Amino acid sequence: MNRKKFQKGDFIVNSEEVSSSAYIVEAGEVRVEYADGNVEPVNFRPGEMFGELGLIKDLDYKITATALENSVLLVVSQQDIEDKTATCDPLVNLFLKIFMERSRLPFAQLGDGPAHRPIATYLGIDSHDQIKQSQNHLLELYQAKGELQLAIERNEFILHYQPVISLRGGHTSGFEALVRWQHPTRGLLSPFHFIEIAEQTDMIIPLGNWVFEEASRQLAIFNRHLKTIDQQPAFMCINISAVQFADPFVLQNFTDLMNRNENDPAQIHLEITESVLMEDGDRTVQILNGVKELGVELVLDDFGTGYSSLSYLHRFPIDTLKIDRSFTSGLLRDKDSMEIVRAISGLAKNLNIKVVAEGIEQLEELSIYRDMGSDYGQGFLMSRPLPAEEIIPLLGKRISW
Ligand code: C2E
Ligand code: CA
Ligand code: CA
Repeated sequence: MNRKKFQKGDFIVNSEEVSSSAYIVEAGEVRVEYADGNVEPVNFRPGEMFGELGLIKDLDYKITATALENSVLLVVSQQDIEDKTATCDPLVNLFLKIFMERSRLPFAQLGDGPAHRPIATYLGIDSHDQIKQSQNHLLELYQAKGELQLAIERNEFILHYQPVISLRGGHTSGFEALVRWQHPTRGLLSPFHFIEIAEQTDMIIPLGNWVFEEASRQLAIFNRHLKTIDQQPAFMCINISAVQFADPFVLQNFTDLMNRNENDPAQIHLEITESVLMEDGDRTVQILNGVKELGVELVLDDFGTGYSSLSYLHRFPIDTLKIDRSFTSGLLRDKDSMEIVRAISGLAKNLNIKVVAEGIEQLEELSIYRDMGSDYGQGFLMSRPLPAEEIIPLLGKRISW
């Protein structure tokens, strides 16, 4: 959108051109004459809008607008509307497109405008089936959003905690919080069934906040327990989705969450994936630095699976790398995994970054990581993710394998 000034008598739009913007009068007065001679000219004053039909794509809309006084106008282009609707709720986006298309049809049918195209072409798809599919998909998303919202309100999400074991001492140093949905009819659902849809509907933001608060509350309970048995406090790893990071209020949100959290901030480890780092680099550096200033640690999860760029490790304030499970399962099968893991471990050591090995299921895998000097290990060999009440009796005990 941009603001333009016109002198008294200036042409703002000339009927020779097809108009493709709407205009809001901020100051002055504008007279609009319509190419369709059946409509009387109209004068527009501050606060009024004209030319909005010009926002409808491919509509051969022509007007003449003249400044009757020195005037200031806010010009809204088709591109402005597209940019804004691209980020709005998908259902609102679709309705807007359909209403715009419906407004175009009667005009196109009137005069000598081009024969009207089906709505599908306007939506960038070319068959009736596809349009139905696209609408059904949106309606499904909408429904899913409602269900997730309700599930949060009804407290249907629960967390399981997987111990993170020190490969030096063999004791539990921390936990990873992993969310599950106790669905009223479908039973206990793994994140595989709902995280992606929570991301697509932005429900990952309230869900992520709930996970953060619940995991922090539980960590405080674990740590009080550990204190009574003279053990070091543990840390809690919390998975943060790239969608949570893309939110404009992300830093304020983490600041509020950390202010309400009763643990030592260094005991909160936020797990992010490479997709977070691939977004707008400068903004990401700024946000990650802001989050680090809150005192938390940052863990780069699933390392090695994405577009792993070693430059990330320099550029972003990462404390720990989690070597992806796929490398662990490859260790005993192929030489490549072993070499990659060795290279990652060496690099991390040089950069003073800790290493967590994920998905350890066999003793041999554990030994390899221990020999390589990895700091922590996590996997079914040591423990599956467990509900909090099953973790409490394990606190302070060495998990044997
Ligand atoms: P992740 O962050 O990579 O979490 C590790 C996953 O590996 C967990 O699956 C865990 O149960 C599983 N796992 C741990 N040890 C082993 C092992 O030895 N062998 C095998 N085969 N698997 C192992 P889970 O709980 O199903 O979580 C899947 C993914 O869902 C997580 O992958 C994470 O990306 C996402 N997720 C889970 N909780 C949250 C959450 O609170 N927020 C967000 N944004 N994502 C979450
Ligand atoms: Ca994780
Ligand atoms: Ca992982």
